[in-house]
Amino acid sequence: MAKEAANVSDTPSRSVTGGRETTNSFDAVIIGAGFAGLYMLHRLRGLGFSARVYEAGAGIGGTWYWNRYPGARCDVESLEYSYSFSKELEQEWQWTERYATQPEILRYLSHVAERFDLKPDIQLQTRVTAATFDEAADCWTIQTDRGDRVSAQFCVMATGCLSAAKIPDYKGRDSFHGETYHTGHWPHEGVDFTGQKVAVIGTGSSGIQSIPIIATQASHLFVFQRTPNFSVPANNAPLSPGAKQDWQVNSAVYRQQARTVPFGMLFEQSEKSALEVTPDERQREYERRWQLGGVCLLGSFTDLIVNKEANDTATEFVHSKIRGIVRDPAVAEKLLPRSHPIATKRLCVDTDYYATFNRDNVTLVDVLATPIEEITPTGLRTTDAEYTVDSIVFATGFDAMTGALCNIDIRGRDGVTLKQKWAEGPRTYLGIMVAGFPNLFTITGPGSPSVLSNMAVSIEQHVDWIAHCLEYLRQHQEAAIEATVDAENAWVEHVNEVGNATLFPLANSWYMGANIPGKPRVFMPYIGGVGVYRQKCEEVAAKGYQGFALSSSAVAS
Ligand SMILES: Cc1cc2nc3c(=O)[nH]c(=O)nc-3n(C[C@H](O)[C@H](O)[C@H](O)COP(=O)(O)OP(=O)(O)OC[C@H]3O[C@@H](n4cnc5c(N)ncnc54)[C@H](O)[C@@H]3O)c2cc1C
Repeated sequence: MAKEAANVSDTPSRSVTGGRETTNSFDAVIIGAGFAGLYMLHRLRGLGFSARVYEAGAGIGGTWYWNRYPGARCDVESLEYSYSFSKELEQEWQWTERYATQPEILRYLSHVAERFDLKPDIQLQTRVTAATFDEAADCWTIQTDRGDRVSAQFCVMATGCLSAAKIPDYKGRDSFHGETYHTGHWPHEGVDFTGQKVAVIGTGSSGIQSIPIIATQASHLFVFQRTPNFSVPANNAPLSPGAKQDWQVNSAVYRQQARTVPFGMLFEQSEKSALEVTPDERQREYERRWQLGGVCLLGSFTDLIVNKEANDTATEFVHSKIRGIVRDPAVAEKLLPRSHPIATKRLCVDTDYYATFNRDNVTLVDVLATPIEEITPTGLRTTDAEYTVDSIVFATGFDAMTGALCNIDIRGRDGVTLKQKWAEGPRTYLGIMVAGFPNLFTITGPGSPSVLSNMAVSIEQHVDWIAHCLEYLRQHQEAAIEATVDAENAWVEHVNEVGNATLFPLANSWYMGANIPGKPRVFMPYIGGVGVYRQKCEEVAAKGYQGFALSSSAVAS
């Protein structure tokens, strides 16, 4: 794009497509209208950039638009899992529960979209199919499944880390005569399982949230578990007036703390090793945090994710809890996670998950021992038995972090696709940009703290960084920014080094791409900590975008 175009907000050319008047040139195209896309739009518009958001869904909200399964709620506390950029927004919005439900979070995001008048620049029900970098003009051409073809100097991927739903390719999958659902594409009208025999496949976060509720409706629920997961009680409750008041008064301090701590969450972090205290002291600390509820168990000791022996103590504690809750010892044994250290897969937060297996109408099927062979017209067949059901719920997760990006035909320099570039695992600089793909930004991309953190904090940080970057380019009359290969290589090496110093690579997790057949086994997020990472990003910007090549357009003069 011409250098002048960096001085944005020239009147874009207009055309009429399919009865809709559309512009066909923007300073930025943003793909996705979840937490990230909404804030990105707000920030760019505030800086005078023209922007268009494309969103595949029929509504805004991203994760909270799609994941309407029973029991869906956040597992980072509502007060923290929200935007911090507007004091007014913060003061006027009242969360009702410690962990908000999906409908409440969706209402919040709709309120944000209304309040900041974002909707006019969002085109719904439009999936971006291709984004191609035009090297001569330093801009992106973006195409959609609705026939749009627009150009933009900058392309911001707000496509989400957990938005490409995955259903394993079971033999006979389409032969089933009953209803099938994926938790990430839940029907808007809801589903009433009353009187039905139901199969839930998968015991990750979505399975663990939905199973206790489906169990109260179904005549019988079969839970097909491949990998038992660690889950801690939410101890969810209505937010007390005192907690709300405290947040209103002190939110600025809390928000600032959240930006500097490792996971972007405000739980108390101990400074002791699990191995330096007595077994009694350790037990008391774990018990205290179990009673508090939520992921604060992770903060019990400093070394839980780096030292296997320390981690084993937390694992043992949760095992004893499961044994204490689940009455049938054989079922309890099956529920004990043994294949991975605690927290190396996303730690789940539940309400009555383990106790659900005490119900007479719930059967746990261990599909590691007896794998699913086939989906049949009437249900499922494992190597051991046939299960007749009315409905199947796939709580089988997502092609995480790279799925939504690689589903788009993104072509950078020399026509190289992002999929080709990432064939052996994602490579980014700071998780924000990719060498060979100028002016393309990935919000909470692989190589950033992203899914290991409170995403609201990480999203705001990336959006602000990108907004400052675009402002800088405009001020300095630069048309393009691109990660250098050297900076990218060094960052990838650093991300791997830090990841390999932890226990995370020991788990077959979606962090490692292990849930997708053929996906390279790489630990994708950055575990260096939200605070450390933010500082690094700020340093890079302060040094005139160190590790990036900035250029005026070839066609500028
Ligand atoms: C059930 C569930 C619970 C979660 N709970 C928490 C939590 O408690 N705390 C936390 O920090 N994180 C949580 N997460 C992670 C959550 O995804 C993030 O917190 C956050 O909502 C991500 O926002 P986003 O805008 O980056 O992505 P998303 O909300 O995923 O939005 C991305 C949007 O991009 C759209 N899109 C993708 N590809 C295209 C395309 N090609 N064209 C057009 N549109 C496209 C999608 O339709 C989607 O609407 C949870 C995730 C799930 C699935």
